[in-house]
Amino acid sequence: MAPSITFLGAASTVTGSKYLVRHEGHCALVDCGLFQGYKQLRLRNWQPLGVAPAQIDAVLLTHAHLDHSGYLPLLARDGFHGAVHATAATRELCGILLPDSGHLQEEDAAYLNRHNLSKHSPALPLYTRLDAQRCLRQFHSHALHRSFEPVPGWRATFSSAGHILGAASILLEVGGHRILFSGDLGRDDDLVMAPPEAPPQADTVLVESTYGDRQHPPENMVDELGAVLAPVAKRGGVAVVPVFAVGRAQSVLHAINLLKTRGTLPRQLPVFLDSPMAVNTTALFAQHPQAHRLSTQEVHALSHSATMVQTTEDSKALAKRHGPMVILSASGMATGGRVLHHLALYSGDHRNLIVLTGHQAPGTRGARIAAGEKSIRIHGQDVAIRAQVAQIDSASAHADSDQTLAWLRRLDHAPRQVFVVHGEMAAADRLRERIAHELHWRALVPEQGAVHSL
Ligand SMILES: [Zn+2]
Repeated sequence: MAPSITFLGAASTVTGSKYLVRHEGHCALVDCGLFQGYKQLRLRNWQPLGVAPAQIDAVLLTHAHLDHSGYLPLLARDGFHGAVHATAATRELCGILLPDSGHLQEEDAAYLNRHNLSKHSPALPLYTRLDAQRCLRQFHSHALHRSFEPVPGWRATFSSAGHILGAASILLEVGGHRILFSGDLGRDDDLVMAPPEAPPQADTVLVESTYGDRQHPPENMVDELGAVLAPVAKRGGVAVVPVFAVGRAQSVLHAINLLKTRGTLPRQLPVFLDSPMAVNTTALFAQHPQAHRLSTQEVHALSHSATMVQTTEDSKALAKRHGPMVILSASGMATGGRVLHHLALYSGDHRNLIVLTGHQAPGTRGARIAAGEKSIRIHGQDVAIRAQVAQIDSASAHADSDQTLAWLRRLDHAPRQVFVVHGEMAAADRLRERIAHELHWRALVPEQGAVHSL
């Protein structure tokens, strides 16, 4: 029997990455992500997985973003006892991200219970901080290009995918088949991360398609950010920048440093990084110098470029300050976290600025603000959006359509099958078309729950 892949997530959508590979009574899960965005997607996190967690032999993670790792605490709590294989940086980042995700789930449930907003009484968290801390013990880290055996007789190898610290593509060799999972692919011209490596030869390729129907603009992030931040600094406004704690926070900080060095922004412009996770992640850049393209001096500058805000008290104290200032805070699509307090406080004033960086998943507050909605709901209140809104398209940490195609072209031989995953329907389908017409390879967009024999 040939191995099979079951698409348990990121099929015709961006989030919830989970691919179950089965062969001769064994199975491994590649990525173990949360569904995020639209409520009907988030509800999928509560539905049965389609495989008993206890039956899964191993999990392999491409990287630490929650849409690739955030389901792990639930999987472990519900009976998965195997090893979780990841790069060293991914393991450390999961140590930061997963307990925080558990904490947020607990806070959400507590909030619903306090305000009697749930149909369930009491509302329960999807998982807790403790669940997340427990699953961290199952992690095993591996160096790039060093093969290991996640399941007896199977071989797996990580190669660098750019994107964020620790991000990797995974080659899985099962029953004579070579299956390549691209993971999230970084871009060749990223400010902070190195370009993705050339892919190893494979029979089957799963390729991400977040930007499958788009090209990055020719502008670079530093110029784009400078153009919107400089006027706000001049008029004494406050710029609120929702950022992903991992990756985006560091590239925006690095860009602000460059702008201060160039004189585009005043050197004394106060900058706050209000996210303990982002602060801890920034510290990891010093520990993994080979995993990014910043010099030792640039990493040093990064950790001194902003006031690092750790405690809730210090975060609240920011509300007493006046502009000009820049506040970077998570979460990146304004779905939760401290950035909501800053948005609630500063969005109503036309002198202020909201800077959205990178892809905003449909259904998130970030996507609504980007679409120009005049009012959004935060903590049960309607908040008017009078502040200027800027979307920095060049801030993406993903390869665009051409870059993804160029990455695929570096395969020596045509794979027998390409599955286009991790994209909204339009983006996934456009990339599928390009692969079929420009490379003449077999490509399809799998459906949620579909099983394909290889
Ligand atoms: Zn990612």
